[in-house]
Parts: sequence; C-alpha cells; structure tokens
Amino acid sequence: MKAHDGMYIGGAWRPAAGTDTIEVVNPADEQVIDRVPAGTAQDVDAAVRAARDAFPAWSTTPPAERAALIGALRDQLVARKDEIAETVTAELGSPLPFSQMVHAGVPILVAGSYADLAATYSFEEKIGNSTVYLEPVGVVGAITPWNYPLHQIVNKVAPALAAGCTVVLKPAEDTPLTAQLFAEAAHEAGIPAGVFNLVTGLGPVAGQALAEHEGVDLVSFTGSTAVGKQIGATAGAAVKRVALELGGKSANVILPSADLAKAVNVGVANVMSNSGQTCSAWTRMLVDSARYDEAVELAAAAAAKYGSRIGPVVNAKQQARVRGYIEKGVEEGARVVAGGAEAPHEQGYFVQPTVFADVTPEMTIAQEEIFGPVVSIIRYEDEDDALRIANGTVYGLAGAVWAADDAEAVAFARRMDTGQVDINGGSFNPQAPFGGYKQSGVGRELGPHGLTEYLQTKSLQF
Ligand code: NAD
Repeated sequence: MKAHDGMYIGGAWRPAAGTDTIEVVNPADEQVIDRVPAGTAQDVDAAVRAARDAFPAWSTTPPAERAALIGALRDQLVARKDEIAETVTAELGSPLPFSQMVHAGVPILVAGSYADLAATYSFEEKIGNSTVYLEPVGVVGAITPWNYPLHQIVNKVAPALAAGCTVVLKPAEDTPLTAQLFAEAAHEAGIPAGVFNLVTGLGPVAGQALAEHEGVDLVSFTGSTAVGKQIGATAGAAVKRVALELGGKSANVILPSADLAKAVNVGVANVMSNSGQTCSAWTRMLVDSARYDEAVELAAAAAAKYGSRIGPVVNAKQQARVRGYIEKGVEEGARVVAGGAEAPHEQGYFVQPTVFADVTPEMTIAQEEIFGPVVSIIRYEDEDDALRIANGTVYGLAGAVWAADDAEAVAFARRMDTGQVDINGGSFNPQAPFGGYKQSGVGRELGPHGLTEYLQTKSLQF
C-alpha cells in the first residue's frame, strides 16, 4: 500500500499538525519503504475531540446495528487480506505464509467474534430489585505494539466498538502502514465519522499525549512492562480506567510422563514463530533431570531446522538487544547448542534461532523477556521444583504443560501463576480471555471477557 500523509480523524484523512515524519523500514533488507506523519499532542487532541463528539450517537446506536458495522469491517479485512499480509511482511518482516495465516487470518476471526457478540450480548441484567445496565466507558485511547500489528489493533478496537465506545488509536512506530490499512477498512465498512480515529506517531510524544488526555476515559495499552507501568501511573493519577497487556517469560513444563519429542518440537516452534516476538512465547522449557540431555538434543535439532526459514526481528535496536541477551547467556555460563549471537546475514535484522542448555532459573536469560528466537532449557528435579521455577519470574502471561493425560497436566496448570496455559498442545482460542497475572498486566482481551473491559455498570433499584 501507499502510505497516507495525514491522520484519520473524524471520518477523513486530515493533514498532520506538524511536519515531522517517521520512516518505515523493511527489516528484511533495511530499506526505507515509506514515511508516515509523526503526530503531536495537537493531532491527538483533534482526534480525541472527534471521538468525544461521536460518542453520544454511537453509544446509543442499537447493538444490532453496531454488530452489523463490525461485521462489515470484518468483511473489509477479508477483502483486503492479501494486502494486509503483504504490508505486515513489508514492515514487520515476517515470512508471507505466516503473515497470511496469522497476521491477516486471526484478526478476521476476532473481528467476526465481536460482530457476533455485539449482536447477542445482554447489555442488561436483573439482580434482585435492581436492573443493571452495562454501558460503554466512553472514549478509548488504544496504544499498540508492532509484534502482531493488526491483531493488537483489532483486539482493542472491535470490543470497544461492540461496547459502544469510540476510539483513538496510536499504533507502534515500526508498523504504521498496517494501522492505516485498518483505518481504510473501517472507513469503507461505514463506521461513522469519529467513532474510530488514527494518529501515527512516537510513543513518548503522541502515545503519552493520548494516555494523558483528559478527554480519554480508558487507556488500553499493549507493550512493554516498563512503558505499561508509566501508563498505569498516569491513568491512576487521573482516576481513568486502564487495561495493560505487558511482557511475558512463559514456561513450557514437560512433565516426566509426557511425549518428549512432541513437547520439545511444538515448544521450539512456538518460540521461533514470528521470530520469537510473541509476548506469550514459551521461552523457558522445563525438563526433568532424567530426560534433560535427550530434550537438549531434540531442541537443538528442531531449532537448526528453522535455519533460514525464520524472518528478521523488527529493527536494528531489537536485533542488538536480542544478540546482547545471547552474549549475556554465554557470559553467565549457559551453553549454546543451536544458533548463537552472530548475525546470520550481512543485510537485514536477522538473529539465529538459538537454544541454550544448562540454564539455571536465576540467569538473566531465564528471567528477562528477550523477545527474539531464543529458548532456554532448564532442568528440574521434581514437580514442586518445576512449579517453583515456572512461577519464579515477575511475569505470568502464558505457559504450557505436557503430560501423559490431560488431568495430570491440568492439576499442574492450576498451580501456575499465569493467565493462560495450553494443555498438551491445545490450540489458540480467539474467544478465550487473554491477559496476565503479576507484572504481565491488568485486564483481559478477546471474547466476552474482553468486551467487559469496555463496559461500566449502572444499577437502577425499583
Ligand atoms: P513498547 O512498550 O516500547 O511500545 C508499545 C507502544 O507504546 C507503541 O505504540 C509505542 O509507541 C508506545 N509507547 C512507547 N512509549 C510510550 C509512552 N511513554 N507513552 C505512551 N505510549 C508509549 O513495546 P514494543 O517494543 O512496541 O512491544 C514489545 C512489548 O510488548 C514486549 O514487552 C511484549 O511482551 C509486549 N506485548 C505484550 C502483549 C500482551 O498481550 N501481553 C502482546 C504483545 C506485545
């Protein structure tokens, strides 16, 4: 697609208030592919005003009509799915088949699920002598990261619109073209002017202005824990609602009774997909002492198979960061059994699929989020030890448990401090609540739980 040189505000593309731009770079070849305007507080203010103006009519539009418009938005995403996949590949670098299946495919499912929910959800309930109305919170400031550019946008915009909220979106600076495509889709779908607005720009400028704006009632943020803490503090000081989807360091717990080869192969694939840039990736593989060496061999072989099939990471800074973590792992005594810190190609922000053995739970690579294609294999002695290691980080976003039968895995999963666990390779459910325990966040996205984030209650007593 060709980038717009303005902001989508009040149903039209308008010139940006300032003249600064952000370069969009293809991480596979380091070439500048386009430029988008770098929004300022003035652009944010115009967008928030448009969203406020649109709120009274949209919040009182019958849910069935909102559902039909969200359904039309989904249809627009379907019609543009090839363009979406190509755009994500160009600005994020993910291989085209993955962009088609996941980056374009999953948001279509999520948008469809909210079209259905808006049509069927009961925005009213009876409790004794009270009628409780579930009303939209108001204007939403949505701030999204680059790792799943369209998914993160749809995860916020679709439930917000279903609830009757209006939205100002500030997408990540690395992937603004996908956000502009989404704005085009919303426009073509007939979403009324001002209900959805887009301001591209830098986090500390446009993002911060949006989080601080007094016309915003709810800030929904997905990104790093460091920025999330700042946004939580800002929102708390203004007594604003806030939803935070933050980092992770999830454990893939392979119990002694599990099918080891399957658990290791699926576990390595989970981390390597999207070049390791998945907040819920199972970056710590926990294996019992008796089968540790076998697991290491299997994981090294699985990672080696990825070789050149893996895409780059998003930018030069992330590449340097991930390579720095690999060097740190070596310094702290972990053993590289696949990959390593050296860049595999001269051009592009590539990182080798890397597996570390002999990782101990307190090492930096076992504690901090790397956000790259790096798996750490950690040895445990018994189930209690495995649980202590699994729960032994500040994060609690996701995880996996493998055992000979589901009941054994479920019993372990119930003791994990984490928001979602895949049992024996259970598949992604776009309607299940997604969000973190501990420092992985506050609030949930997806399905009915994701919808309630955008609703507030009013009870009338009779
Ligand atoms: P980031 O925190 O740097 O940026 C996320 C967004 O916040 C971007 O749009 C950015 O421009 C904006 N931002 C940056 N500084 C800001 C500020 N001071 N005020 C307001 N907005 C600001 O994160 P990132 O590097 O883009 O994304 C990677 C991180 O996101 C990882 O830590 C990952 O785990 C996390 N993540 C979490 C989830 C989840 O659902 N829990 C999903 C995807 C990514």
